[in-house]
Amino acid sequence: MKILVINAGSSSVKFTLFDMDKDVWLAKGMLERIRTAGAVLKYSNHRGEKFEKSIVANSYEAAISAACLALCDADHGVIANLEEIKGIGHRVVHGGAEISGAMQITPAIKQTILSCYELAPLHNPPNYEGIEACEYLFRDIPMVAVFDTAFHQTMPAAAYTYAIPAAVAAQYKIRRYGFHGTSHHYVALAGAKVLGKEVTDVKLITAHLGNGCSITAINKGQVADTSMGVTPLEGLVMGTRCGDLDPAVVLFLCRAGYSPDDVDKLLNKSSGLLGLAGTGSGDMRDIITAADGGNAGAKLALDVFVHRLQKYVGAYATVLNGFDALIFTGGIGENSARIRALVCEKLYYLGVEMDVARNRANEVVISRNATGPKVLAVPTNEELMIARETARLLM
Ligand code: ADP
Repeated sequence: MKILVINAGSSSVKFTLFDMDKDVWLAKGMLERIRTAGAVLKYSNHRGEKFEKSIVANSYEAAISAACLALCDADHGVIANLEEIKGIGHRVVHGGAEISGAMQITPAIKQTILSCYELAPLHNPPNYEGIEACEYLFRDIPMVAVFDTAFHQTMPAAAYTYAIPAAVAAQYKIRRYGFHGTSHHYVALAGAKVLGKEVTDVKLITAHLGNGCSITAINKGQVADTSMGVTPLEGLVMGTRCGDLDPAVVLFLCRAGYSPDDVDKLLNKSSGLLGLAGTGSGDMRDIITAADGGNAGAKLALDVFVHRLQKYVGAYATVLNGFDALIFTGGIGENSARIRALVCEKLYYLGVEMDVARNRANEVVISRNATGPKVLAVPTNEELMIARETARLLM
């Protein structure tokens, strides 16, 4: 069964075609700068062939049809025609409080995606446009929406409720939703497999550390708590986002003359590692290089990042009443032995012991064979998870 996965953003669309019988990708690519004169298609296939070319893409339909032509191309294509595609899985960021799993796309589900626009104004509108473009291009192919928030809907009320007046929270749908759910779910399943257990038998802490960072406590397959909140701004320190903050800081800045948009930009785009280091980059590799070169701001940024992470692991260890494994994923989690070591050396009290050589070698199991919690580094694969969920619903 061939499944196409679409991740439609505000100016770009990522696509991956999977062969689910073999659980492998056949081709993938990116459509960038859609609706500009500089629109471009970047494409690669499983044979290692790649190309990049300018396209005319004044709409999502035009952009996605350029991807379809590449998939069926006589030289670089991987399918003979589009009829080989049996389902399309769409990444959708926000499903609100109603959606707790992947859903086949129907008019009612589209309505739910629309109703969550105000909760994810930058993401749900392009996700929706991607769905409509595919409905137009692939009239009879069933489609599935896989929501970033869905996995977190298993969270108990004690974890998702903010301590503000209940009526205000209900009126504005203010509660913890959590994000990166597809990634946390994927690495939880993959991590349980590495441990030789079912996900329903283990207690896991999953740390997705990319440009955006979030951490989730998972109790036997159910989310017990997660760090991102009503938006992806809460929780860990991120590339350009502040994470946890006294909410009064927002009031303080507004009273000092910042507009709500100014504060939004400050906390989402100019804070985190970027804002702390002051070296012009929020990229962890640059932060580590600058810190090692003696830059005090970068050193502090690193310390704050690690401290926040340590604090969350400690909190979630308590929420779960002990845990079987800590799983690192995302660009930082998968690649930075340094960050993993800095965090784990502060978790000794919890019984975490890292194996220095395995960690440096980027192995999957990076803890020692002791009795304490295991530490894993598991590459995430949100596209594959979306394809699996799509295939599962359409079989
Ligand atoms: P996104 O959240 O945009 O998908 P990624 O998951 O690719 O991003 O993560 C990007 C982050 O991963 C950047 O901060 C980058 O510096 C970091 N990263 C990638 N490789 C390494 C590495 N070897 N060491 C440290 N950080 C790394």
